[in-house]
Amino acid sequence: MIRIRGPHLSTPLSVLISARDALARRDADQPGPDALYLPTRSGAVALSERYDGRLGLAVEDADPRRGGRAVAVLLGRFENRPLYGVELLEIREEIDDPGRDLRDLRHCAERIAPGDLDLALAAVAMGAWHRSMRACTDCGGPLVPEQGGWVLCCETDGREHFPRTDPAVIMAVRDSQDRLLLAQGAGFRGRFHSVLAGFVEPGETAEAAVARETAEETGITVESVEYVGSQPWPFPRTLMLGFRAWAPGAAELRLQDEEIVRARWFSRDELAAALADGTVELPGTASLGRALIRDWYEADGRSLGEH
Ligand SMILES: [Zn+2]
Repeated sequence: MIRIRGPHLSTPLSVLISARDALARRDADQPGPDALYLPTRSGAVALSERYDGRLGLAVEDADPRRGGRAVAVLLGRFENRPLYGVELLEIREEIDDPGRDLRDLRHCAERIAPGDLDLALAAVAMGAWHRSMRACTDCGGPLVPEQGGWVLCCETDGREHFPRTDPAVIMAVRDSQDRLLLAQGAGFRGRFHSVLAGFVEPGETAEAAVARETAEETGITVESVEYVGSQPWPFPRTLMLGFRAWAPGAAELRLQDEEIVRARWFSRDELAAALADGTVELPGTASLGRALIRDWYEADGRSLGEH
Protein backbone atom coordinates (compact mmCIF):
# COMPACT_ATOMS: atom_id res chain seq x y z
CA MET A 1 0.00 0.00 0.00
CA ILE A 2 1.34 3.43 -0.93
CA ARG A 3 0.96 6.11 1.70
CA ILE A 4 1.47 9.85 1.68
CA ARG A 5 2.68 10.87 5.09
CA GLY A 6 2.19 14.25 6.66
CA PRO A 7 3.38 15.26 10.12
CA HIS A 8 0.46 13.56 11.84
CA LEU A 9 -1.65 12.24 9.04
CA SER A 10 -1.44 9.42 6.58
CA THR A 11 -3.62 8.91 3.57
CA PRO A 12 -3.68 5.47 1.99
CA LEU A 13 -3.90 5.63 -1.77
CA SER A 14 -5.19 2.08 -2.11
CA VAL A 15 -8.77 3.26 -2.56
CA LEU A 16 -7.88 5.66 -5.33
CA ILE A 17 -5.60 3.25 -7.14
CA SER A 18 -8.03 0.37 -7.10
CA ALA A 19 -10.88 2.66 -8.19
CA ARG A 20 -8.79 3.78 -11.17
CA ASP A 21 -8.07 0.15 -12.03
CA ALA A 22 -11.74 -0.49 -11.89
CA LEU A 23 -12.53 2.25 -14.40
CA ALA A 24 -10.77 0.17 -17.02
CA ARG A 25 -13.11 -2.73 -16.30
CA ARG A 26 -16.01 -2.99 -18.69
CA ASP A 27 -18.12 -4.60 -16.02
CA ALA A 28 -17.63 -1.80 -13.47
CA ASP A 29 -21.31 -0.86 -13.77
CA GLN A 30 -22.49 -4.45 -13.51
CA PRO A 31 -21.21 -5.99 -10.29
CA GLY A 32 -20.06 -9.57 -10.77
CA PRO A 33 -20.83 -12.54 -8.51
CA ASP A 34 -17.74 -11.83 -6.36
CA ALA A 35 -18.84 -8.25 -5.54
CA LEU A 36 -19.31 -6.99 -1.99
CA TYR A 37 -21.65 -4.13 -1.05
CA LEU A 38 -21.45 -1.39 1.58
CA PRO A 39 -24.83 0.29 2.21
CA THR A 40 -24.86 4.04 2.94
CA ARG A 41 -27.67 6.52 3.51
CA SER A 42 -27.31 10.32 3.88
CA GLY A 43 -23.92 10.29 5.62
CA ALA A 44 -24.55 7.05 7.51
CA VAL A 45 -22.71 3.83 6.73
CA ALA A 46 -23.32 0.15 7.61
CA LEU A 47 -20.96 -0.82 10.43
CA SER A 48 -20.43 -3.66 12.86
CA GLU A 49 -18.73 -3.94 16.24
CA ARG A 50 -15.36 -5.71 16.05
CA TYR A 51 -13.78 -7.90 18.70
CA ASP A 52 -11.07 -5.26 19.32
CA GLY A 53 -13.60 -2.57 20.26
CA ARG A 54 -13.35 -0.79 16.93
CA LEU A 55 -16.03 -0.53 14.26
CA GLY A 56 -15.61 -2.28 10.90
CA LEU A 57 -17.46 -2.08 7.59
CA ALA A 58 -20.55 -4.31 7.52
CA VAL A 59 -20.28 -5.44 3.91
CA GLU A 60 -22.95 -7.63 2.30
CA ASP A 61 -22.78 -10.39 -0.32
CA ALA A 62 -26.19 -9.64 -1.85
CA ASP A 63 -26.86 -6.50 -3.90
CA PRO A 64 -28.90 -4.20 -1.60
CA ARG A 65 -30.36 -2.27 -4.56
CA ARG A 66 -33.22 -4.73 -4.94
CA GLY A 67 -36.61 -3.37 -4.03
CA GLY A 68 -35.81 0.34 -3.90
CA ARG A 69 -34.05 3.25 -5.59
CA ALA A 70 -30.33 3.11 -4.91
CA VAL A 71 -27.07 3.71 -6.76
CA ALA A 72 -23.85 1.67 -6.67
CA VAL A 73 -20.31 3.09 -6.85
CA LEU A 74 -17.23 0.91 -7.25
CA LEU A 75 -14.98 1.96 -4.36
CA GLY A 76 -12.07 -0.41 -4.72
CA ARG A 77 -11.17 -3.78 -3.29
CA PHE A 78 -12.05 -5.13 0.13
CA GLU A 79 -10.84 -8.54 1.25
CA ASN A 80 -9.59 -8.88 -2.35
CA ARG A 81 -13.10 -8.56 -3.80
CA PRO A 82 -14.64 -5.58 -5.66
CA LEU A 83 -16.44 -3.37 -3.14
CA TYR A 84 -19.42 -1.25 -4.15
CA GLY A 85 -20.82 1.51 -1.99
CA VAL A 86 -24.60 1.53 -2.34
CA GLU A 87 -26.40 4.77 -1.46
CA LEU A 88 -29.95 3.89 -0.43
CA LEU A 89 -31.92 6.77 -1.93
CA GLU A 90 -35.53 5.89 -1.33
CA ILE A 91 -35.49 2.82 0.81
CA ARG A 92 -37.60 2.93 3.94
CA GLU A 93 -35.45 1.70 6.77
CA GLU A 94 -38.10 -0.05 8.80
CA ILE A 95 -39.61 -1.93 5.83
CA ASP A 96 -36.91 -2.47 3.22
CA ASP A 97 -33.78 -2.29 5.30
CA PRO A 98 -34.06 -4.61 8.29
CA GLY A 99 -31.16 -5.49 10.53
CA ARG A 100 -28.63 -3.00 9.19
CA ASP A 101 -26.65 -0.88 11.63
CA LEU A 102 -26.32 2.39 9.70
CA ARG A 103 -24.43 4.95 11.78
CA ASP A 104 -23.68 8.61 11.09
CA LEU A 105 -20.02 8.66 10.04
CA ARG A 106 -19.47 12.11 11.58
CA HIS A 107 -20.13 10.72 15.04
CA CYS A 108 -18.23 7.45 14.92
CA ALA A 109 -15.24 8.08 12.61
CA GLU A 110 -12.71 7.76 15.43
CA ARG A 111 -13.86 4.23 16.27
CA ILE A 112 -13.49 2.91 12.72
CA ALA A 113 -10.34 1.00 11.75
CA PRO A 114 -8.17 3.28 9.54
CA GLY A 115 -8.35 1.34 6.24
CA ASP A 116 -12.10 0.90 6.67
CA LEU A 117 -12.49 4.62 7.42
CA ASP A 118 -11.02 5.58 4.04
CA LEU A 119 -13.54 3.38 2.26
CA ALA A 120 -16.37 4.66 4.44
CA LEU A 121 -15.47 8.29 3.69
CA ALA A 122 -15.35 7.56 -0.06
CA ALA A 123 -18.67 5.69 0.09
CA VAL A 124 -20.43 8.49 1.99
CA ALA A 125 -18.91 11.17 -0.29
CA MET A 126 -20.04 9.41 -3.46
CA GLY A 127 -23.43 8.66 -1.92
CA ALA A 128 -23.91 12.35 -1.12
CA TRP A 129 -23.00 13.29 -4.69
CA HIS A 130 -25.49 10.84 -6.21
CA ARG A 131 -28.14 11.99 -3.75
CA SER A 132 -27.67 15.62 -4.81
CA MET A 133 -27.36 15.07 -8.59
CA ARG A 134 -30.91 14.33 -9.65
CA ALA A 135 -30.74 15.85 -13.16
CA CYS A 136 -28.29 17.38 -15.63
CA THR A 137 -27.25 20.82 -14.37
CA ASP A 138 -27.09 22.13 -17.96
CA CYS A 139 -30.35 20.92 -19.51
CA GLY A 140 -32.29 19.19 -16.74
CA GLY A 141 -32.11 15.84 -18.58
CA PRO A 142 -32.00 12.49 -16.79
CA LEU A 143 -28.60 11.15 -15.68
CA VAL A 144 -27.16 7.66 -16.02
CA PRO A 145 -24.25 6.44 -13.86
CA GLU A 146 -21.18 5.25 -15.78
CA GLN A 147 -17.61 4.17 -15.04
CA GLY A 148 -18.50 2.41 -11.85
CA GLY A 149 -20.65 5.33 -10.65
CA TRP A 150 -17.83 7.93 -10.86
CA VAL A 151 -19.45 9.73 -13.81
CA LEU A 152 -23.06 10.73 -14.43
CA CYS A 153 -23.89 11.05 -18.13
CA CYS A 154 -26.83 13.14 -19.39
CA GLU A 155 -29.16 11.08 -21.58
CA THR A 156 -30.31 14.20 -23.45
CA ASP A 157 -27.12 16.05 -24.36
CA GLY A 158 -24.42 13.48 -23.52
CA ARG A 159 -22.65 15.82 -21.09
CA GLU A 160 -20.58 14.07 -18.42
CA HIS A 161 -20.78 15.23 -14.80
CA PHE A 162 -18.03 14.46 -12.30
CA PRO A 163 -18.09 14.50 -8.48
CA ARG A 164 -17.12 17.86 -6.95
CA THR A 165 -15.53 18.69 -3.64
CA ASP A 166 -15.53 22.05 -1.84
CA PRO A 167 -12.20 23.20 -0.37
CA ALA A 168 -12.23 24.52 3.19
CA VAL A 169 -9.34 25.63 5.39
CA ILE A 170 -8.77 24.78 9.05
CA MET A 171 -5.94 26.52 10.84
CA ALA A 172 -4.02 26.37 14.09
CA VAL A 173 -3.25 30.07 14.74
CA ARG A 174 -0.42 30.81 17.20
CA ASP A 175 0.64 34.14 18.71
CA SER A 176 4.11 35.50 19.58
CA GLN A 177 4.10 33.50 22.85
CA ASP A 178 3.29 30.29 20.93
CA ARG A 179 -0.20 30.22 22.41
CA LEU A 180 -2.96 28.55 20.35
CA LEU A 181 -6.24 30.21 19.38
CA LEU A 182 -9.25 28.03 20.17
CA ALA A 183 -12.85 29.05 19.57
CA GLN A 184 -16.36 27.93 20.29
CA GLY A 185 -18.47 28.21 17.15
CA ALA A 186 -22.14 29.16 17.28
CA GLY A 187 -23.13 25.59 16.35
CA PHE A 188 -20.78 23.88 18.82
CA ARG A 189 -22.16 21.87 21.70
CA GLY A 190 -21.31 22.40 25.36
CA ARG A 191 -17.62 22.88 26.13
CA PHE A 192 -16.47 21.93 22.63
CA HIS A 193 -13.56 24.06 21.36
CA SER A 194 -11.65 23.85 18.09
CA VAL A 195 -9.33 25.75 15.81
CA LEU A 196 -10.85 28.16 13.26
CA ALA A 197 -12.13 26.97 9.89
CA GLY A 198 -13.98 28.26 6.85
CA PHE A 199 -14.64 27.72 3.16
CA VAL A 200 -12.30 28.88 0.41
CA GLU A 201 -14.06 31.46 -1.76
CA PRO A 202 -13.98 31.41 -5.59
CA GLY A 203 -10.79 32.97 -6.95
CA GLU A 204 -9.01 32.75 -3.60
CA THR A 205 -5.91 30.75 -2.61
CA ALA A 206 -6.17 28.46 0.40
CA GLU A 207 -3.52 30.58 2.16
CA ALA A 208 -5.53 33.76 1.58
CA ALA A 209 -8.61 32.00 2.94
CA VAL A 210 -6.70 31.22 6.16
CA ALA A 211 -5.85 34.90 6.61
CA ARG A 212 -9.32 36.17 5.63
CA GLU A 213 -11.29 33.73 7.80
CA THR A 214 -9.04 34.39 10.81
CA ALA A 215 -9.46 38.15 10.40
CA GLU A 216 -13.22 37.95 9.82
CA GLU A 217 -13.93 35.63 12.73
CA THR A 218 -11.53 37.00 15.35
CA GLY A 219 -9.98 40.27 14.09
CA ILE A 220 -6.51 38.67 14.20
CA THR A 221 -3.97 39.34 11.43
CA VAL A 222 -2.11 36.24 10.28
CA GLU A 223 1.37 36.89 8.87
CA SER A 224 2.48 33.46 7.70
CA VAL A 225 0.87 30.10 7.02
CA GLU A 226 2.20 26.61 6.39
CA TYR A 227 0.33 23.67 4.89
CA VAL A 228 0.13 20.54 7.07
CA GLY A 229 -2.22 18.03 5.43
CA SER A 230 -5.78 17.40 4.28
CA GLN A 231 -8.81 15.29 5.13
CA PRO A 232 -11.99 14.54 3.19
CA TRP A 233 -15.08 15.60 5.14
CA PRO A 234 -17.92 14.44 2.93
CA PHE A 235 -20.84 16.03 4.82
CA PRO A 236 -21.74 16.62 2.09
CA ARG A 237 -18.57 17.31 0.07
CA THR A 238 -15.80 19.21 1.80
CA LEU A 239 -12.05 18.71 1.55
CA MET A 240 -10.43 20.15 4.68
CA LEU A 241 -6.99 21.71 4.11
CA GLY A 242 -5.05 22.02 7.36
CA PHE A 243 -2.58 24.82 8.12
CA ARG A 244 -0.37 26.15 10.86
CA ALA A 245 -0.64 29.94 10.99
CA TRP A 246 1.28 32.60 12.92
CA ALA A 247 -0.03 35.94 14.15
CA PRO A 248 3.01 37.46 15.90
CA GLY A 249 1.43 40.88 16.31
CA ALA A 250 -1.79 39.41 17.70
CA ALA A 251 -3.97 42.06 19.25
CA GLU A 252 -7.23 41.89 21.14
CA LEU A 253 -9.78 39.41 19.82
CA ARG A 254 -12.80 40.94 18.08
CA LEU A 255 -15.27 38.12 17.61
CA GLN A 256 -17.77 37.86 14.79
CA ASP A 257 -20.97 37.51 16.77
CA GLU A 258 -22.92 35.25 14.41
CA GLU A 259 -20.21 32.62 14.02
CA ILE A 260 -17.97 32.66 17.10
CA VAL A 261 -19.41 32.56 20.61
CA ARG A 262 -16.11 32.56 22.48
CA ALA A 263 -12.42 32.46 21.60
CA ARG A 264 -9.18 32.77 23.54
CA TRP A 265 -5.46 32.09 23.40
CA PHE A 266 -4.29 29.01 25.30
CA SER A 267 -0.78 28.26 26.49
CA ARG A 268 -0.05 24.54 26.72
CA ASP A 269 -0.31 24.72 30.53
CA GLU A 270 -3.67 26.49 30.27
CA LEU A 271 -5.03 23.92 27.83
CA ALA A 272 -3.78 21.05 30.01
CA ALA A 273 -5.58 22.58 33.01
CA ALA A 274 -8.78 23.22 31.03
CA LEU A 275 -8.82 19.62 29.77
CA ALA A 276 -8.15 18.29 33.26
CA ASP A 277 -10.99 20.25 34.87
CA GLY A 278 -13.36 19.57 31.96
CA THR A 279 -13.98 23.17 30.90
CA VAL A 280 -12.65 22.45 27.40
CA GLU A 281 -13.50 19.54 25.15
CA LEU A 282 -11.55 18.98 21.90
CA PRO A 283 -12.49 17.50 18.50
CA GLY A 284 -12.49 13.71 18.07
CA THR A 285 -9.24 11.85 17.54
CA ALA A 286 -9.95 11.10 13.83
CA SER A 287 -10.38 14.77 12.86
CA LEU A 288 -7.91 17.10 11.17
CA GLY A 289 -8.75 19.77 13.77
CA ARG A 290 -7.57 17.39 16.46
CA ALA A 291 -4.38 16.61 14.48
CA LEU A 292 -3.59 20.35 14.23
CA ILE A 293 -4.13 20.91 17.96
CA ARG A 294 -1.98 17.88 18.75
CA ASP A 295 0.73 19.12 16.35
CA TRP A 296 0.99 22.34 18.39
CA TYR A 297 0.50 20.84 21.84
CA GLU A 298 3.03 18.02 21.48
CA ALA A 299 5.80 20.25 20.04
CA ASP A 300 7.42 20.52 23.47
CA GLY A 301 7.30 16.79 24.18
CA ARG A 302 3.94 16.51 26.00
CA SER A 303 1.19 14.12 24.99
CA LEU A 304 -2.40 15.16 24.37
CA GLY A 305 -3.57 11.58 24.96
CA GLU A 306 -7.27 10.80 24.65
CA HIS A 307 -8.60 14.11 26.01
ZN1 LIG B 1 -27.95 17.55 -20.11
